[in-house]
Formats: sequence, structure tokens, C-alpha cells
Amino acid sequence: MNKPLLSLLLLLVVTVSFSQTFDVETIKNAGDNDKRINLVILGDGYTASELTDFETDAANFVSAIFGQSPFSEYSDYFNVHIIKVISNESGANHPGTATDEGSYNVPVSTVDNYFGSTYDGFGSHRLLYAPNYSLIISVLADNFPEYDQALILVNSPYYGGSGGEFPVTSTGTSANEIAIHEIGHSLVDLKDEYYPGDYYAEEGINMTQETDPSLVKWTNWIGSNGVDIYQYCTTGSCASWYRPHQTCKMRYLGYPFCAVCKEGIIEKIHDLVSPVDSFSPTNLSIETSTFPVSFNVSLINPSTNTLETIWTLNGSTHSTNVDIISILEADVNNGLNSLSVAITDNTSLQRIDSHETIHVTTVTWSIDNTTLGITDITAEENQFSISLYPNPTNNAFYVKFDSFNSSNVRLELTSMDGKQVLSTRLESGITNTINLNQQAAGLYIANIYSDSVLLARKKVIKK
Ligand SMILES: [Zn+2]
Repeated sequence: MNKPLLSLLLLLVVTVSFSQTFDVETIKNAGDNDKRINLVILGDGYTASELTDFETDAANFVSAIFGQSPFSEYSDYFNVHIIKVISNESGANHPGTATDEGSYNVPVSTVDNYFGSTYDGFGSHRLLYAPNYSLIISVLADNFPEYDQALILVNSPYYGGSGGEFPVTSTGTSANEIAIHEIGHSLVDLKDEYYPGDYYAEEGINMTQETDPSLVKWTNWIGSNGVDIYQYCTTGSCASWYRPHQTCKMRYLGYPFCAVCKEGIIEKIHDLVSPVDSFSPTNLSIETSTFPVSFNVSLINPSTNTLETIWTLNGSTHSTNVDIISILEADVNNGLNSLSVAITDNTSLQRIDSHETIHVTTVTWSIDNTTLGITDITAEENQFSISLYPNPTNNAFYVKFDSFNSSNVRLELTSMDGKQVLSTRLESGITNTINLNQQAAGLYIANIYSDSVLLARKKVIKK
């Protein structure tokens, strides 16, 4: 167990860079690159004859990260590619100038590697970093410009690494654990759960100065999975900062991510990629004009499938939790019909903030039906994120949503006897207040629609 490394504020080194094209290989392929999060690993300090070592080291990292929750559950959302960067010499630089050299006993070396990776960054021996930032950018641009997250793997057996936009790790002790911890920083913006110093202390997914359990961002997790509000330390400036867990990977290598960090990672995955891999028919391929017509979505399923689907035809629920449906002539009206499917992830690993936020992806088909049969089908994919909180509530609840288009979103509240008690239009990007003063205590169903598409159905409890 090692203490993770200090994050490194990368200095932009101005150099005149020329770059090269290297072999690029996909070592984990879950699907189309434009439908996946693309992790790209660049080697440094690997000579031409050591490229097979690089492939092995990169493969080890892939098994390590996708063996850990929540990357294991969401493995199919990621592709991994390697850029086989060739260095003139093997290994990393070690000037031996750090103030804490004595405790490490690593030989001094000068190495002509590609990105200039070196130990002793900012006076700290284990701070291994790649100073030639502009060269990393240009190698990525020339070899794999569509990367979502890049990582530098340095061919050196000694402990070390750093964070920043491009995490760096050696191949030494705890290398994979360092890399996963640093990806927590750079991909998801998780904070350290050991005190990182005043400069890096700030509000984040897993770091706060809020001490009220009902207001803290991880309020929904308090009391489960070891989550509480833990002080970083008892004296000094770190005493005013709090973390959600005592042994998260963002504090100690070798431990799992805590529930709050897992939730943040999944939230980021949903921000970056839609669970809809493909759907048919598309606008471009109207294959059939005779009934029955088949509609389907191909989804990127988490390893335990927590995705839920609701199909709506002309405002009524058609079916749920199926990927394919068949529409009969008797199902549709003459003229324009609207068929849609809304997909949400109901994983128990998410209890967002103090809110119940749901990401919803919809695919909507407009079906133009005449007595001669279907004349036209058009399809459109859309994404929404909706928060409804607090729940249970006393006199009001709040709904916030964002969508990529300016569709008309409406909330309808129905009591348990099936009576609609409230219908209101929601504005995008602001907090909408739904007043329950006129309603009796009890259970209600809130249906949220985009035009006639049912996006979400939530139980709301008035106390
Ligand atoms: Zn954590």
C-alpha cells in the first residue's frame, strides 16, 4: 500500500515540436470508436526492440482497470488503443536532485527517451512526469486525435507517477494502481482523499467543506458502504475539509473506489457516451413500407444489465424492457405517428448528489402512414438529464433538466387512484418548483414527457 502521488501542475514547455507517425493498435475493442470512450496509452522509454514489452505492460493495465468496479461493470463503454512510440534509449531520466532521494535508492541516469520522462519532478523523487507536453499533444494529433483520455506508460521499474491532463506511471511497483488513481483525477475530476495540500483543496465530487449530513453532496450514501463525512485531519487548514470514505482508492492504492467516487465515474461515462449503440430503421434506410414494421435499438449493456427501456406509441406506453418491437397496421393511425424509446440506467451504484438524477436517451421515429402504407419514417436521437428532489418532500419538489434540443418537456402528477392532479411545463436549464400545497399527503406518480414521449416515471412521496 502506497500513498498516491501528488498531482502535478503541468508546465507548458514551449518547444518546437515535430512528430512522427507510429503504429497504433487497438487492444480492447468494445465497438465503434465514436460510440465509446477511447483510452489511449503512449509508451515512453521503450526502444524498438522493447515494443512487445510495451504491449504486455499496456495489456496488464487494461486487465487491472477493467477488473475493478465500476470500470468492470461499464467495460463495454471503453475502447483502448496503444501508440507504439519508439524511444532511442530505454527507461526514464533520474537526475537525483530531489530532496527525498535518500529514501528511494534509485540510480541516477540520463536517458534519451521520446517525451523526456523523468523522476524528481518539482523536487519530489517519485514524481515521474513527461515534461514535453506539446510533443504529447502532437503525437496524439498525428496518431489518434479522437482520444478521450491519454496515459503515458514509462518503461522504468522504479515506483513513480503523476497526474494532470496526461497521467504518467512507471511500470514499477503499484504502476497499475497509480494509473487508475490518476485516471480518477484526469477523466472524472475526483479529488484526493488524502490531504493534497492547500493549493489543491477544493470542492469536488468527493471533497467538501459542507458538514451538514442533509446538505452534503453524498447525502444519499451516508450510512451505507462506509460513507460518512470524515475530516481530512484535526488541526491546520486541512481540518476544514471532508471526504466521504476512509479507505477509497483516491486515498490509498490497493483499495476499491468508494461508493461516491464510483457514482462520479458512472456519471462521467454517461456524460461521454450514449447507451444507444445503434438503432433501426434510420432516416437513411427505410427498408419496408409494409406491416408489420420492426423497430430496434442496440444498447451498450453494463455487465449486469441495469438499462431500462420504455417504448411509447402516440403517447401511450407500448412495451418495456425490450430492444425490439413490431408495429402492426392496427397499431397506427392515418397520418403522422410518433414512436419512441426512452433508455435509462437504473444501476444501484448511482444515487446522484442529494438528487435523483437520471440520464435519459431517447430515439423517436415519426411514422407517416397513409392508406397506401407507410410513406416515410424519420428518426432522431436525443439526450436528457433530469433531477427530481427532495423525495420524500413536504410542500414542494424541484425538477431540473437539460436537453440537447428545445423540446417541450412537461410533468404530469397522478395520484394513486389514477387522477391527474397537476400538469405543468418545465423550463430547460433552470430549477422548476412543483408546489404540492394543494395535495394530500401520500404517494404520487410523476410522469415526465418530451412532447408525447414518456421520458421518466418517478414515485413522489408527500409527507
Ligand atoms: Zn472516494
